[in-house]
Amino acid sequence: MPKETQPQNIDDLISDFSRFYILTILYEGPAHGYSIINQFKKRVKKEVSPSLVYPFLQQLEEKGLVTHTLKPVGEKERKVFELTDEGRDLCTGLFKRFAELVAIAIEPSMYVCAHCGCKVYEGAHREVIHDKEMTFCCMHCARSYKELKVSKQAKK
Ligand SMILES: [Zn+2]
Repeated sequence: MPKETQPQNIDDLISDFSRFYILTILYEGPAHGYSIINQFKKRVKKEVSPSLVYPFLQQLEEKGLVTHTLKPVGEKERKVFELTDEGRDLCTGLFKRFAELVAIAIEPSMYVCAHCGCKVYEGAHREVIHDKEMTFCCMHCARSYKELKVSKQAKK
């Protein structure tokens, strides 16, 4: 088995993903530590350890990316964490970079409309034109493409 696929290394990756998911939860709005853990469980279908969540929140706070306010929740006061403007900007950048990486990874399942050249990820409109299967973003592009082809042939 190659080294990169050994469980230990995968765990390292997962722990980075945990931090990534925590950021996506904070990005949606202020949350206290306990609700982050709950949200995480709901969304990722996996437990996240408080010993990962709280030190991570503290690190973010030390870097000025997160602030907290004390708010009464039930009988206790809880720290409600919130991204600062800087933290929010950093997350936006991170998510964009991540989205680009994902887009590159799924590129093989992406089509380009033969008429307008726009990218089509799903729901592409296919038509067989002159024995060749062509892909379009919509039926209107397919029609325009055919009309263009006919007018070119008429000029010959
Ligand atoms: Zn098109």
